[in-house]
Amino acid sequence: MESTQTVHNVLIVGSGPAGYTAALYTARANLAPIVFAGLQPGGQLTITTEVENYPGFPDGIMGPDLMPLFERQATRFGAAVQWKLVTKVDLSARPFKVWCDDELYLGRTVIIATGAEAKWIGAKGEQEFGGYGVSACATCDGAFYREKHVFVVGGGDTAMEEANFLTRFCSRVTIVHRREGFRASKIMQDRAAANPKIDFLLNTEIDEIMGVVEPVKRVTGVRVRSTLDGSTQEMPIDGVFVAIGHKPNSELFKGQLDMDELGYLSTSSWSTKTKIPGVFACGDVMDHVFRQAITAAGTGCMAAIEAERYLENEGH
Ligand code: NAP
Repeated sequence: MESTQTVHNVLIVGSGPAGYTAALYTARANLAPIVFAGLQPGGQLTITTEVENYPGFPDGIMGPDLMPLFERQATRFGAAVQWKLVTKVDLSARPFKVWCDDELYLGRTVIIATGAEAKWIGAKGEQEFGGYGVSACATCDGAFYREKHVFVVGGGDTAMEEANFLTRFCSRVTIVHRREGFRASKIMQDRAAANPKIDFLLNTEIDEIMGVVEPVKRVTGVRVRSTLDGSTQEMPIDGVFVAIGHKPNSELFKGQLDMDELGYLSTSSWSTKTKIPGVFACGDVMDHVFRQAITAAGTGCMAAIEAERYLENEGH
C-alpha cells in the first residue's frame, strides 16, 4: 500500500548524532525533513554510559540523556520523526523511494545516517548464548552480573570503557585481548589498569563459549586459546561481553551505492556526496576512521548543507 505520494525535500535514514544533526540543519533551512528513527532510535549513544568528550558538556552527559536533546533541537525547527524502520530503498530514479515495510515515501534527497552496530567474535556458542551470558552492551546487560566474574573481549576504547562500567556490578572483570598491545587511548587504558577489579588476559582468543540450558540457560565457561603457542584451556566464567568494534549498517544500499570491502559507504573526498547526486551519507556508516559522536554530528551537518545546495541547484 502506498500511503503518501508527497515528494519530501529530505528523507533522513537514521537517528543518531549524524541523522539528527542533518535534521536540525535541514529543518532550520525550512526543508521539513523526515527522520526515520530505525531499530535503535537515538543510535549507539543510547546504549553507552557517560559521554565525556562531547563538547559543551564539561561534566559529561549520559548517552541516553544526550540523544533526546538532539531530537528536541531538530523537531523544534520542524523535523518530523517517524518511529519506523526503513526496509527498502530505490535510489535508481527520482524522486528517490524509501519504504517502511509497505509504506512508501518519496524524496528529492536522501541522507543516509544508518550508523554501525556491534561485531561478534564468531566463537562457537556465541550465538547460542546471545542474551544468556553473551552480550555486546554492558550498559544494557551489566546489571545482570552482580558479584559475577565476566570477560570483556577487545583491546580498544570500547573494551576499556565496558570493563570499567561493568566493575560497578561485577566482582571481577577480565579484559581478554588477542595481542599484547592495545588500540585503546592511553587515558582509557590507564583507567582500566588502575581499577582493582580489572585484570588482563593477553595474547588470548576465545574458541568456545560453554554453558548450560537447564534449569536456566546461562554461560558457565570458555575455552581460550593462546595466540602465541596455540595452547588451549578451559576457564569458568559467568558472562562474556564482546567489545571488538562495529560494522556499518549499509545492507540496504548494497548494489545501489559504492562501499568499501568492510561495507562503509563511499563518499567523495571532503564531502558526503555518494555516487548518486542527491544521495548523501554521513556518520558511522561512511566513517571508518573517527567514529565519534562529534564527527558523526559534523558529517551530518555537511550532508544537510550539501542537500540544501543540491535542492537549490535543482530549483527547489
Ligand atoms: P576498535 O578501536 O576497532 O578496537 C577493536 C578491538 O577489538 C581491537 O583491539 C581489536 O584487536 C579487537 N578485535 C577486533 N576483532 C576481533 C576478533 N575477531 N577477535 C578478538 N578481538 C578482536 O573498536 P572500538 O574499541 O569499538 O572503538 C571504535 C572507535 O570508537 C575508536 O575510534 C575509539 O577511539 C572510539 N571510542 C571512543 C570512546 C571514548 O573516547 N570514550 C569510547 C568507545 C569508543 P586488534 O587491536 O588486535 O586489532
